[in-house]
Amino acid sequence: MTLNPAPNSFRTGPDERGRFGIFGGRFVAETLMPLILDLEKAYADAKADPSFKADMESYGTHYIGRPSPLYYAERLTEHLRAQTPAGQGAKIFFKREELNHTGSHKVNNVLGQILLARRMGKPRIIAETGAGQHGVATATLCARFGLKCVVYMGAVDVERQAPNVFRMKMLGAEVIPVQSGTRTLKDAMNEALRDWVTNVSDTFYCIGTVAGPHPYPAMVRDFQSVIGIETKQQMLEMEGRLPDSLIACIGGGSNAMGLFHPFLDDRDVEIYGVEAAGHGVQSGLHAASLTGGRPGVLHGNRTYLLMNEDGQIADAHSISAGLDYPGIGPEHAWLHEMGRVTYLSATDAETLEAFKLCSMLEGIIPALEPAHALSKVMELAPTKPADHLMVLNLSGRGDKDIPQVAQIFGQTL
Ligand SMILES: *Cc1c(COP(=O)(O)O)cnc(C)c1O
Repeated sequence: MTLNPAPNSFRTGPDERGRFGIFGGRFVAETLMPLILDLEKAYADAKADPSFKADMESYGTHYIGRPSPLYYAERLTEHLRAQTPAGQGAKIFFKREELNHTGSHKVNNVLGQILLARRMGKPRIIAETGAGQHGVATATLCARFGLKCVVYMGAVDVERQAPNVFRMKMLGAEVIPVQSGTRTLKDAMNEALRDWVTNVSDTFYCIGTVAGPHPYPAMVRDFQSVIGIETKQQMLEMEGRLPDSLIACIGGGSNAMGLFHPFLDDRDVEIYGVEAAGHGVQSGLHAASLTGGRPGVLHGNRTYLLMNEDGQIADAHSISAGLDYPGIGPEHAWLHEMGRVTYLSATDAETLEAFKLCSMLEGIIPALEPAHALSKVMELAPTKPADHLMVLNLSGRGDKDIPQVAQIFGQTL
């Protein structure tokens, strides 16, 4: 169903209606439209203002801890090479977003949106969260800038992610458990959209991934693109050339878009996105919207979604709460149809193996989300020649996952 002509550039989207080919757009209630247009204009103004960029860089450096290192994962590289014929086995690098303040890439985007909310004079920030990483990042920046923060979180997730709920409260945020639907992330996002329409004048909605109505997918991508921009520069400094491949996990798709976007027109660079296959795509218990879903409309944009036969949004399943979203950012849907990015999926079991290996070999306990991508690195790297440079986006650290993994491994804390 490729309806889109092949573009001269993969980096020009979205168009003025917010579309990436047939994906994206803004399918919102009329009452929300003025807010969206306001935001679009404010973001365009900010983008053109050097003082906004200067603030992003200054807080990025001194508060978040940027740039994050590009790190040669030597022992993982050697370990995988030992299992392949001589001359085979890619050289593996980690882009270390887990070292950011609050422990993941989420904060890059939140910083941008909070600085934008300040410019717009909005004193009240709302956000949705699943695992709680975006909620924590938002609560953190709100504390830093003295803004009121309200986080919507599915009641099921509030129970599953108690430490992050506590962190948000410590930081001064109000956490509202959402009781509707499946009481998870998609319901939290519905509730946040509802709040936004009813609190038009003073509220800014800080979305946590490259989803939602235009301009969010493009705006969040822009704020996360610092990951790819730094990676390009760092690889040129370390190896004197661009990487041969990039790989990142995908929930909504923001850490992946951030790494990928600056490289989309470097056509020799292979790009891989990894969705969560849960118990396996055939089992029905997964979160692989591209691999196992079809196009539809959710949360204000057209994209690939998990649906049942009647077109109702189906439950996502993943070992990793951060990938447990039944949709995917519209730009990924488009890149999938264009064939520019290859989308794979990793099961819970493969992910746990990668989680263990990374901890033991590199002394880095990764979050379960990037462990999905790492499990595909373990498959792909041995198929590449030894001079192949492969970059994994290590989107977050695993501290938040320790109680869950301990339980799976049958250990008590
Ligand atoms: C939230 C999260 C993800 C998934 O979100 P994307 O928008 O797909 O990046 C991945 N990794 C970590 C560590 C997260 O916290």
